[in-house]
Amino acid sequence: MTAPVGTVMRRLGRAIDGLDEPAVEKIAKDQQEDPFQVLIATMLSAQTRDAVTAAASARLFRAARTPKAMAALTVARIQELIYPVSFYRNKAVHVKETCRQILARFGGRVPSTLDELLTLPGVGRKTANLVLILAHASRENICVDTHVHRIANRLGWVRTRTPEETEHALYRATHRRWWPIINLYLVTWGQNVCRPVYPLCPQCVLVDICPKLGVTRVGKQVR
Ligand code: SF4
Repeated sequence: MTAPVGTVMRRLGRAIDGLDEPAVEKIAKDQQEDPFQVLIATMLSAQTRDAVTAAASARLFRAARTPKAMAALTVARIQELIYPVSFYRNKAVHVKETCRQILARFGGRVPSTLDELLTLPGVGRKTANLVLILAHASRENICVDTHVHRIANRLGWVRTRTPEETEHALYRATHRRWWPIINLYLVTWGQNVCRPVYPLCPQCVLVDICPKLGVTRVGKQVR
């Protein structure tokens, strides 16, 4: 059994209204979809809680808002500003080097193609796709993180082992009209209801159509 994609997306569109949006989405809106800030915030967000990402991004952008200003910071200063995001030491190195390369290779502008974005240090498919969607208004990309990977499998949309496999499978399994918003909808749902462990199935708006593949125990917490 597979949950129908259109029904899921329409229901989630209504259900996430009023829930907290993922940190990078908020930053993108607050900063008028500035590609540089979306890129850096997304790099910081990997394996980091939203509140930590938001606070670290705000501190870093107060110190430097452009690739030129950020490239001028020392790695130690960037580390200090973004602590305690996960892997802050590596991320600080990648942030500085990415800024240097944006200046040296792309004239100070964040590149607008997947292939170019993937050449930047510390930028993987998740980050590159999210930058294209949020900052370059792409309608051709799906951003898959662990929430999207997990929920797409629970819904039966894909049968995959890794986020990258899920991304490729989702291009085939879903209509392109949903591609730019799959991440927003599934990440918001994954943070609030379809959690990694003990998903709140009894309270979920999808409970009657979701096959719950791989779910062995559900949570009971009332929102
Ligand atoms: S919370 Fe349960 S019912 Fe809702 S999408 Fe996740 S697995 Fe399906």
